[in-house]
Amino acid sequence: MNTREPDHLNLLCDMGELTTVVTGNSDIETFLACTATLVAQHLKAHVCSIYLFEAMENRLVLRATQGLNPEAVNILTMKPGEGLVGQCFESSTFVREGNATQNPRFKYFDNAGEDPFNSFLCVPICSGMEKIGVLVVQHRELDHFTLFDERALRTAMTQLAGAIENARFLMELGPEKTLEYQSGLPLFIKGKPGGIGSASGRVLISSQDRKSMLYGSYPSKTIFTKADFKTAVDRTTQELKSLQERFTRRLPESASLIFTAHFMILKDKNFTGRMEQLIDQGHHPIEAVKQIAQKYINLFSSSPQAYLQEKAVDVEDLSIRILSNFQDAQTRKTMGKGSIAVATEIYPSDILKLVADGIKGIILVGGGVTSHVTILSRSLQIPLIIADDPRLLNLPQETILLVDATQGNIYFNPDRETLELFNTRHQTEKQVKRQAMESQTFSLDKQRVTLLANINLLGEIGLAKELKAEGVGLYRTEFPFLIRTGFPSEAEQFLIYKQLFDQMDGTLTTVRTLDAGGEKTLSYSGYTREANPELGLRSIRFSLKHKEIFETQIRAILRAAHGKENIRLMFPLISSIDEFIEARQVVSDCSRDLEHESIAHNNRLAIGMMIELPSVLCTMDEFAEIADFFAIGTNDFVQYMMGADRANKLVANHYIPYHPAVNRGIETIVKTANRHGVDVSICGEMAHDPDYIPFLLGVGIRTLSVDPQFLPSVQKIISALSMKKATTYAKRMLAQTRVRDAAKVLKARP
Ligand code: PEP
Ligand code: MG
Repeated sequence: MNTREPDHLNLLCDMGELTTVVTGNSDIETFLACTATLVAQHLKAHVCSIYLFEAMENRLVLRATQGLNPEAVNILTMKPGEGLVGQCFESSTFVREGNATQNPRFKYFDNAGEDPFNSFLCVPICSGMEKIGVLVVQHRELDHFTLFDERALRTAMTQLAGAIENARFLMELGPEKTLEYQSGLPLFIKGKPGGIGSASGRVLISSQDRKSMLYGSYPSKTIFTKADFKTAVDRTTQELKSLQERFTRRLPESASLIFTAHFMILKDKNFTGRMEQLIDQGHHPIEAVKQIAQKYINLFSSSPQAYLQEKAVDVEDLSIRILSNFQDAQTRKTMGKGSIAVATEIYPSDILKLVADGIKGIILVGGGVTSHVTILSRSLQIPLIIADDPRLLNLPQETILLVDATQGNIYFNPDRETLELFNTRHQTEKQVKRQAMESQTFSLDKQRVTLLANINLLGEIGLAKELKAEGVGLYRTEFPFLIRTGFPSEAEQFLIYKQLFDQMDGTLTTVRTLDAGGEKTLSYSGYTREANPELGLRSIRFSLKHKEIFETQIRAILRAAHGKENIRLMFPLISSIDEFIEARQVVSDCSRDLEHESIAHNNRLAIGMMIELPSVLCTMDEFAEIADFFAIGTNDFVQYMMGADRANKLVANHYIPYHPAVNRGIETIVKTANRHGVDVSICGEMAHDPDYIPFLLGVGIRTLSVDPQFLPSVQKIISALSMKKATTYAKRMLAQTRVRDAAKVLKARP
């Protein structure tokens, strides 16, 4: 009989601690060795070995072992599919054998010294869709490892995958390089991943380089003339025009909106005209630009009106462009295109400007990041990392940075090998992303799940379609509102929605009305800062208070939907039946007006609501009678359930998506919807999170709406999941009343 007591809980805790070891300057080999020792100890195994995959050589290499011949480390290799280890890696499934030598696939490796080990348990190590390697435990006795060991290891591997992935990568670079310092800089530092993907380029410190042109002593001795000033202004006009053109291709909905203010200021005779006057009076042209720019900036920024304060930013941006255009083209090149921007503060409109400037990646130092900045950077596929290291703001101009936003790593002056390695990885990631998806999604036991896409920018529709999204579960309409300096007109909005509907061509498309306010403040809306913006005039409250803005949007949507099928309209942040009825009435009124005006429109849209506030839970039955569908916005639902600001890192530990109240709340919504035959989906971030998908499906959700790039991984998770197991798991989760216990159940998710 087996008398040992496996120590699973401690294993998980220790693993959690271990993952923090692999930061900047730690020794990677030691990390892997520690992992192997810990796992062996906790599972009372005689052997624990870690094999990592080397993509370039297409082989698995023994990187650490506790119990096998230590000399085999870095020497013992095998191909994917070779032996039980290779089989586990290739198929990404567990291999548990009570008597491994009896398995026909067992392969004996001479130099490893593994003769006497009969029990064998091998778990794949995967980070998202990427296979990293495998971990193997072995024991002399027959039938030593149990299903519980298997589960514990699986959970431990999920925790460790990110850290091991890092370790693997650094080892590929070569051990001697991991501790190397270059001109006082570490090889890399760790930040928090924001966007996804990786990019490299010369550093551009926006808060320092650019602003020093305006506020510093730049340039020192260069002589410039009035003709140079005129050339700089002309170049700036040209530059803005070509930026706008590039924008039109990449972000059709915001073309012509973002640089409007710049063009207006450029044309303003008081602005460039006064600069010329100063030059005529004998001032140095650079000083003339700086003097007038600063005067305007002071004037605007001292205004109590938020929208005028924003103009100061436009003047600043424009003046820096003019100043940089005194330089020759070669020097100017370093200003934006192909660079990695380092900034201390960033707004959605900044991201758009940086992207238009050709920035390849963004590092945000300190400060907060609104979740919409993260969402936007993902939509634009710009890697974004949030890092608290002040050294980033003082990097020499020639520093090359490589940002790996998937891991959250920032590399300083990486060598050619490193850059090539990332390039290869980037290509592989692209291929994986584009891997053919099935057009329909089924669980392991053949239950159908519908996968929809969340779309923020029209440019994302292509990817959503390519990845076989079955429709759009959430189109966030606020981005065109966020990036401009005034409300978009009905005609402007009509064109945006028409493009959306045309491209979706009759497949399900869900448009959410303006979700302004909160962290998505429209500076031009005439409101000064609220003390508690998340509890303030946001979302549908804003729309109902500003009926003219709401009506403009509804009219544009109804008109653009003319002659189209399968279009749904939904309201965000509904808090009461009354609010839903009032919002729906606006739609009816707009429809009636359009009818009177004989303007073609669609008056048969399904009208639904987002469930984001706990206040609706008690009247779910009544909502189900009046709403055509529900979409659960878990980002906000968790925020308001927990009373924890979703963007405030000080309370991040209070933002608990698996909290018993959240779990039971979701169950109530799904049960009610199903009872009334009302369609219900999830469109918050939980919908793509492997930690929460089993619960959501187990509780009865059959439609998930996720950012397009997550579609393949979500489909893969679902097809490996048995709905029967998910249901049992959800029941277990719902039985928990304590967060602590829910956390334990979460760790043992199927
Ligand atoms: C949500 O709250 O979950 C949601 C999808 O809306 P947003 O993230 O835009 O607030
Ligand atoms: Mg929301």
